[in-house]
Amino acid sequence: MGDGSRQFRTFTIITVGEGPNYDGNGQITTSKLATYDELVSFLKDQDTRQPAMDLEVIGQTVKGRDIHLVKYISDPAKPTILYLTQQHGNEQLTTEGAMAFVKHLGTGKSGDILDGVNILIVPMLNADGAMGDVNFPLDDYLAKGDRHMTRYNAEEVDLNRDHVAKIQPETQALHTNVMRKYSIDYMIDLHHQGTRSERDGKLVSGSILYPTTPNADPAVVEMSKQLGAVVFNNVDSTGWGHLGKYVGGSAETISRNGITVEYGIATLLFEMRGMSDHYLDGYALGLRSNGYLIQQTVTTLTATAAAIADGSIADADTSFWDSLDTQTSRPGEEADDE
Ligand SMILES: [Zn+2]
Repeated sequence: MGDGSRQFRTFTIITVGEGPNYDGNGQITTSKLATYDELVSFLKDQDTRQPAMDLEVIGQTVKGRDIHLVKYISDPAKPTILYLTQQHGNEQLTTEGAMAFVKHLGTGKSGDILDGVNILIVPMLNADGAMGDVNFPLDDYLAKGDRHMTRYNAEEVDLNRDHVAKIQPETQALHTNVMRKYSIDYMIDLHHQGTRSERDGKLVSGSILYPTTPNADPAVVEMSKQLGAVVFNNVDSTGWGHLGKYVGGSAETISRNGITVEYGIATLLFEMRGMSDHYLDGYALGLRSNGYLIQQTVTTLTATAAAIADGSIADADTSFWDSLDTQTSRPGEEADDE
């Protein structure tokens, strides 16, 4: 963010409660979202209830919070998918959806998909940002509730630009104890974008993108497109789902690109609508949208795991990508969110 947006931040404070995103979307609040401690309690409780699940600490954040890996590995020879949430701390509904998915795996609500696929989940990678426990001020952030939430980690670093240098402890934990330790075939990196992106004149519930670095193996990119096809077919067909193609860069500092090149993993970026907190009112989304966005995550995780488990992902038709329009943004949303 440059000086221009700093000035705009002052302006937005005046408009709190008056912007278009506040109308009909409910209050911008963090009070309904799981805290880091609530997430950890939930995971430990599920670990005691679910024989198929393992819970491991893969490292610590800048502020010393344990970073957790949820593992369902029945047979290492089976294909493996990794779901990553909240590299950006203010993008929490993806984590809420991942928690619901874990619960469903325990109750059998997701069927017998664990028979055919290994599932790894790293929820809330950026716990310090999610808790607003950072070494820089968040006074101008919009959300009401227990805490502010920010994109950056405690050192004001964007973790999704650290996948080449891997300087931050959160990024190191992910690469050292997950990416290098397991044979991972697929990964979905779950994010939230602003509130004003649209396709065909209608606001999107999210947007997706495969690796776009020229250094990616074309065969792996094709697998990434198949992963995207499964997501598109299952989400866009719902009453609430409307997906566009995301506009993303080719830098390998971004996980979607860097992880594909470094490990040969098929990756998909999923950017859901609206952040849990922000200092710009075009980005934060009120709690009235929480339900369908959490469901969008559950649908995405369940459908992709099932398609890998039964092998149907190999038949996924990727030609839809050629006709899927790139999302455009209404005024008020201009930064790169990924
Ligand atoms: Zn993000």
